[in-house]
Amino acid sequence: MAQLDGFHMQPDEFRRRGREIVDWIADYMERVEGLPVLSRVRPGEVRAKLPEAPPRSPEPFEQVLADLDSIILPGVTHWQSPNFFAYFPANASGPAILGELLSAGLGVQGMSWTTSPACTELETHVLDWLVDMLGLPERFRGNGVIQDTASSAALCALLAARERKTGRASNSDGVPADLVCYASTEAHSSIEKAVRIAGIGDRHLRRIETDARGAMRPDALKRAMEEDLAVGLRPFFVAATVGTTSSHALDPVGGLAEVCGPRGAWLHVDAAMAGTAALCPEFRFIHDGLEHADSYCFNPHKWMFTNFDCDCFWVADRAALIQALSILPEYLRNKATESGAVFDYRDWQVPLGRRFRALKLWMVIRHYGVEGLQFHVRRHVELAEWFAQRVDEHPQFELAAPRPLNLVCFRHVGGDEVNERLLETLNASGELFLTHTRIDDRFTLRMSIGQTWTEQAHVESAWNTITASCPPGRDRSS
Ligand code: PLP
Repeated sequence: MAQLDGFHMQPDEFRRRGREIVDWIADYMERVEGLPVLSRVRPGEVRAKLPEAPPRSPEPFEQVLADLDSIILPGVTHWQSPNFFAYFPANASGPAILGELLSAGLGVQGMSWTTSPACTELETHVLDWLVDMLGLPERFRGNGVIQDTASSAALCALLAARERKTGRASNSDGVPADLVCYASTEAHSSIEKAVRIAGIGDRHLRRIETDARGAMRPDALKRAMEEDLAVGLRPFFVAATVGTTSSHALDPVGGLAEVCGPRGAWLHVDAAMAGTAALCPEFRFIHDGLEHADSYCFNPHKWMFTNFDCDCFWVADRAALIQALSILPEYLRNKATESGAVFDYRDWQVPLGRRFRALKLWMVIRHYGVEGLQFHVRRHVELAEWFAQRVDEHPQFELAAPRPLNLVCFRHVGGDEVNERLLETLNASGELFLTHTRIDDRFTLRMSIGQTWTEQAHVESAWNTITASCPPGRDRSS
């Protein structure tokens, strides 16, 4: 029976249990490859194994760990499996996990510089490192912040744009009804969500058509803006995507900037997954024209070996962002803030509180070094190229979109039903996990390569499973 005056886990026990947990994670890394990638539980199955009521008295740690294996693990889809090719990667790594652990251990709440100066200064510094590492425009230096997600980055950009356009009147008087924003038909749903949250309304989000590659057409954007201006509406925000979710299409940032600039619209660039590729100079073409953008984000929590969550967000003019989001109640006043010499990152984001996320990013960059990160990104792109070649050579499969980086969109030539059945069979096998999209209104499979442990053998094995699972018959020529 635990003593009523001492329920805490004491440092000695924490040390012992902590080692057990680190061992558990290391074992998981070793065995995850053998686990069925997509969880096989049915809806409600995990909850049915959990007790109705919380424990009245403390439970043994061993029991909790045992339940982790027997109840939780079967309900996990293994994003860290080298056979995970679905959606986009969320590639964790040893240094990131340890950085996350340190962040939890320090338990810092970094809302203001003064609440933990290192939390703020390391973040500013690491984001400046990334300006160099990704070859980002100089205007972003000193203007970076970590958000939880690309969705939040888009929302903050939109709010800053809204306040800039209305001379801060939206915050004071409410959102005027004449504001209009633009994104391509291929932009991520987070843009639509941001538009709703910011009070712009779906009705004032124009979905701009794309070219044959899925990239936003600057001429179509220009036409839409001109039509809106002609009826007295105010274009204020454009969301470009570098690496669309469906097919990795690259919006022409420079061409879009030429349309936005003269019309006073803020250009935000969402490079959630693809941005990491710019670590390698040969892939920096994806950012052509970025020097004219007002804001930019990418997610180390997708393809840069950094545990979720971690989105890096830069603005060209931080004053616009801070003016949109800053509120200083009496209880947060302090000398450092008043000196004007520090950043208070709470003013750069929606929530007040913030975690020490820069620690894990710092540890990842120091562990791999720029060369290590480049090595793995190149490797993933090469594996995608290898896979795309196999598809291209196979009489029953075809590529559904160009492949700029690590995502291959492909399909069986037998039509939607065949592809849907193929996907179900593959995912039920447990050997790999793929997801789909629609391209040219046809059901299309997506092979997204970027998991930390994915190697040639896994991609080869995926290809063999795919070809062995598809129905015989029809080929491209028939
Ligand atoms: N933007 C793009 C292009 C994406 O592919 C995704 C995720 O799929 C997102 C935004 C949303 O990312 P987050 O979960 O960080 O909000």
